[in-house]
Amino acid sequence: FNVPAPQNEPVLNYGPRSIERAALKAALAEGRAQVIDIPMYIGGEEVRTGKTLEVRPPHDHKHLLANAHEGDASHVKAAIDAALAAKENWEIMPWEQRAAIFLKAADLLAGPYRAKINAATMLGQSKNAYQAEIDAACEFIDFLRFNVQYMTEIYAQQPISSKGVWNRVEHRPLEGFIFAITPFNFTAIAGNLCAAPALMGNVVVWKPAPTQLYTANVIMQVFNEAGLPPGVINMINVDGPVAGDVIFTHRDFAGLHFTGSTHVFQNLWKIIGNNISNYRSYPRIVGETGGKDFVLAHSSANAEVVATALVRGAFEYQGQKCSAASRAYIAKSIWPAVKEKMIADIASFKVGPTEDFENFVNAVITEASFDKLAKYIDEAKANPDVEIITGGTYDKSVGYFVQPTVIQVQDPYYVTMCEELFGPVLSIYVYEDEQFEEIMNIIDNTSPYALTGSIIAQDRYAVTQATTRLRNAAGNFYINDKPTGAVVGQQPFGGARGSGTNDKAGSMQNLLRWSSPRTIKETF
Ligand code: NAD
Repeated sequence: FNVPAPQNEPVLNYGPRSIERAALKAALAEGRAQVIDIPMYIGGEEVRTGKTLEVRPPHDHKHLLANAHEGDASHVKAAIDAALAAKENWEIMPWEQRAAIFLKAADLLAGPYRAKINAATMLGQSKNAYQAEIDAACEFIDFLRFNVQYMTEIYAQQPISSKGVWNRVEHRPLEGFIFAITPFNFTAIAGNLCAAPALMGNVVVWKPAPTQLYTANVIMQVFNEAGLPPGVINMINVDGPVAGDVIFTHRDFAGLHFTGSTHVFQNLWKIIGNNISNYRSYPRIVGETGGKDFVLAHSSANAEVVATALVRGAFEYQGQKCSAASRAYIAKSIWPAVKEKMIADIASFKVGPTEDFENFVNAVITEASFDKLAKYIDEAKANPDVEIITGGTYDKSVGYFVQPTVIQVQDPYYVTMCEELFGPVLSIYVYEDEQFEEIMNIIDNTSPYALTGSIIAQDRYAVTQATTRLRNAAGNFYINDKPTGAVVGQQPFGGARGSGTNDKAGSMQNLLRWSSPRTIKETF
């Protein structure tokens, strides 16, 4: 199949006098200057209910960015009906036409919408310019382009035929509609959770996180401008359980494409299980969920490499990446050098609003998240066995700002070593050099998650040991690097255990979950 060969979208650098910075600043100013109205998108129509939710920048919660119209059960029903009505034409549309729509969406994001979607991600989700660029522009574009390539590879794989017999496999979309539920922290994930099933010929009802609606609105504008037929992807803004009540009891519910926290996913799986006899087919359940991602530094590690992996892994996007380094195990002999470099690096970080391009750390997403982090920090301060090495302060008067915080613990099972905090808090346990074997057992048994992890070592034996012994502790494993920053087409992403079904976002494996193959034997 002749489709444009995908290449990773180059990351623009937003230098002080660059054209891209000027465009981004203009888009930020435009976003700031108006209070927009965010509709739901059902069957190609913009739906306004008059009942609205206020959208504010997490770094400036007194400023109103938008009012997002909220729906109820009737809007969920309407979205399902619109999706099913669009299904017949969409699934028989030649795959090249579907591909062309998503390739055009990628080009729109790379060009005319780049500044707009990055600005929306900066204002709505408090990402700095670089974090927005690698997410809302580059990763989203990569998902769209690489998935087109993967789709053609799937379609090209055919069974063997014999004399007088032609065997073939047809990749039918699932019979019904897909429910996409997305988290606040990645614009690319939101786009991909809708686009991947749709590319394979499915129709989608999408419920973005309430904290992501400002960007979700731009995603729908891009899909529409790319020529997506009405009803193929429908965006609703409805309370999760209200939407779930309608969707999970519907006979045509065919699949869940979820990214978010583990407890929400487990709850939804139970609801689906309880309704299983009501569905036309067994629904496909794909979920990427929480993490408690580790960095293991061996005594042979280069201290600078360790410090850089820790500060970038733990504090980029305020630690709100599912892959963020949040627990580290450092060999005692290298700890003084790691600590010194880490403290110096963190001292150089500027904390503040995203619109100031100098700020490395911005606000956490909500007041609830801020309060939860403050509680963990206060408990750590009150505990004599825990030392706050740096940070430990917070202020929500203007935005939800938590200073990058490093906690050193004496107990490797201390609460912040085990639970997902989802903020700029890194917990460190310093182990005796000769405890390396034992520490791997601790890492493997400390949390229910298994998303990402790193081994940092120059000693090849240590690298081999960790790679082998920790093979079930992470779906994405890094050697001598931070545990974040997976790139589509290079490091397919996903975790197992409590971190998800590990269907690797942006891969053939994920796309195959949205196909119900039919085998056809024709005899001549
Ligand atoms: P969340 O679980 O609070 O929300 C995720 C989505 O689920 C939101 O759209 C929310 O509105 C919806 N939801 C909540 N309750 C629901 C219900 N009863 N019925 C239907 N929908 C419901 O997660 P979040 O705070 O938005 O995102 C952070 C979480 O996502 C973290 O745990 C993080 O690790 C995880 N995450 C994982 C990955 C991954 O690839 N593994 C990637 C990004 C985020």
